[in-house]
Amino acid sequence: MSAKIIDGKDIARRVRDEWRIRADKLKAAGVTPGLAVIMLGDNAASQVYVRNKVKACHDIGIFSDAHLLPATASQADVLKLIDRLNADPRIHGLLVQLPLPPQLDVHTVIERIALEKDVDGFSLYNVGGLVSGGTVFPPCTPYGVVCMLEYSNIPITGQNVVVVGASNIVGKPMALMLMQKEATVAICHVKTRDLAQFTILADILVVAAGKPGLITAPMVKTGAVVIDVGINRLPDGTLVGDVDFDAVKEKASYITPVPGGVGPMTVTMLLCNTIQSAERSAAKLGIKT
Ligand code: NAD
Repeated sequence: MSAKIIDGKDIARRVRDEWRIRADKLKAAGVTPGLAVIMLGDNAASQVYVRNKVKACHDIGIFSDAHLLPATASQADVLKLIDRLNADPRIHGLLVQLPLPPQLDVHTVIERIALEKDVDGFSLYNVGGLVSGGTVFPPCTPYGVVCMLEYSNIPITGQNVVVVGASNIVGKPMALMLMQKEATVAICHVKTRDLAQFTILADILVVAAGKPGLITAPMVKTGAVVIDVGINRLPDGTLVGDVDFDAVKEKASYITPVPGGVGPMTVTMLLCNTIQSAERSAAKLGIKT
């Protein structure tokens, strides 16, 4: 059996087409959704991410406002800029591209972003919402994974899910979101003993460890759905995930490729969160869309 490939680019395009209509309705009512991005320093990967976000905004008709600060910027400068953007009515979503230079405290910076503009979903309030079920903005990468599963008509409720990776931005929120949908969730990490004894039980296996080749075919149950969040650049320049794609696709029922899987969904969900924020802002002002 060869798995069906979950085409992240195609799903991302379909999701964007739906949300473009919502953005157009807002614009017709006089509200252009706006996203501000703050980046510090010249980290090459961050530059690519920010460029992609700005381009994606342009493509869907969102106003984007990128602020590129030197790596030496002080915390006071960054907080001042956040305060200004928090107060700017043209901005409905505000994010600070991570990682930050060492002189900045990431928690202080993230907590300064107005809750109603925290479209990355990293604030403590948003994270708390993942536990209690009242999230304002779901974090973009796990939100993208849930969206991919739903668009592929893959049931979540009652399924055994194993999440490999327990970071604050991917693994933990992923596990919480799938638990909210009443999956039975196990979460594994670098200290997990005998990873395979967990992964083999998964109906849905989500891998976000950043380790190429971590998941091999014997670790995967026949017919499992395998979602590879990992993005790793090999020494020869090739981009790969954490899953041995060629071998695992012969055993899984569905699998995401890298590139072209989860990656395109992450930016798409950022656009969705920004448009949703603009809709909430318009509703507060009594503007009908
Ligand atoms: P991270 O380094 O913050 O966390 C990695 C997690 O994996 C940790 O919990 C660690 O314990 C676990 N881990 C590491 N080695 C392991 C092993 N051998 N066995 C089991 N668990 C192990 O990384 P992150 O920010 O969560 O990102 C994870 C991967 O996902 C990276 O490759 C990153 O580039 C990618 N990523 C992709 C997207 C996307 O849009 N597709 C978005 C964010 C991150």
